[in-house]
Amino acid sequence: MLEDCKESIILIVDDNPTNLLVLSQTLKDIGLKVRVSMDGESALEQAIEETPDLILLDIQMPGIDGFETCKRLKLNPSVSDIPVIFITANNSTENIVEGLSLGAVDYIVKPFQKEEVLARVQVHLRLRLLTRKVQEQAIALQIANQQLECLANLDGLTQVANRRRFDEQLDLEWKRLTREPGPLSLILCDIDYFKRYNDFYGHQAGDTCLKQVAKALEQSLKRPGDFVARYGGEEFVVILPNTNFDGASHVAEIIQTDIEKLYISHAQSQVSTHITLSLGISSMIPTKEASESSLIAAADKALYEAKRRGRNTFYHEFSAV
Ligand code: GH3
Ligand code: MG
Ligand code: MG
Repeated sequence: MLEDCKESIILIVDDNPTNLLVLSQTLKDIGLKVRVSMDGESALEQAIEETPDLILLDIQMPGIDGFETCKRLKLNPSVSDIPVIFITANNSTENIVEGLSLGAVDYIVKPFQKEEVLARVQVHLRLRLLTRKVQEQAIALQIANQQLECLANLDGLTQVANRRRFDEQLDLEWKRLTREPGPLSLILCDIDYFKRYNDFYGHQAGDTCLKQVAKALEQSLKRPGDFVARYGGEEFVVILPNTNFDGASHVAEIIQTDIEKLYISHAQSQVSTHITLSLGISSMIPTKEASESSLIAAADKALYEAKRRGRNTFYHEFSAV
């Protein structure tokens, strides 16, 4: 007997008490746990209550017969994958084919030989075990893939999208708005005097601040298509699809207000007593001739200008809309 199958539960369904007794004993002798049932209806109830690993099912029984019992088992998702072996006195091809076509995995002809019953039961228990392992591995693989995808797309510190994911999203929106023309805006957000913040409050406080800013940025964005990513270091980037100059400027104002509301003290800032951002905005209607890098370059230029103009402000690069 396979070690792994030791705890397996076998449900025997037969209206003949002698058959039940002999089969039960045969299976118990090799260490299997046996449950018995004398008709189809109670077998269904029992299978649902305590899922067996295998069902040995007599065909001719009073009430619902073995075929009908099997049909009902296969219709119930909670028990449909339990392997069923028919036990039949009728070994006509027609009878056997019908049983197999209802989803049974095998059949045993009465009067049965103990050795044959044991051999067939063990084969199907082993198969069920293997199927389960494959299913478990498939689920584990799916979970690992999801985790991997998260790792590949999210910034580890702030849990917003990372640069790689940003590139992907910008490319997607750029192509979409080339096909169905509409404005696309970017806002590059850079924390003011962040090096001094780190130097003064420590790197850990700096990390906490980055997390708070990322969360606030996420909450500032209201439309489903709006997107925020960590662009690198203390810079974040926002993608605003179907948003023109005015819309993007409005979002930039909201962001500035929301960051102000965080009220993170910054004793070393030259522009405020608290953490502030400089924001560079660019807007375009994407075309096949242009590329998304021009949109990024324009936002970068605008950010530089916002810094030059004294920080804690936004500037819009007039490259298009
Ligand atoms: P400016 O106002 O011109 O933007 O000045 P700044 O000091 O913010 O800009 P600078 O580029 O000189 O410094 C950025 C700092 O951001 C340097 C680095 O210590 C800090 N920084 C970048 N990434 C991280 C991070 O993951 N964690 C922490 N704590 N600090 C970071
Ligand atoms: Mg910077
Ligand atoms: Mg900075």
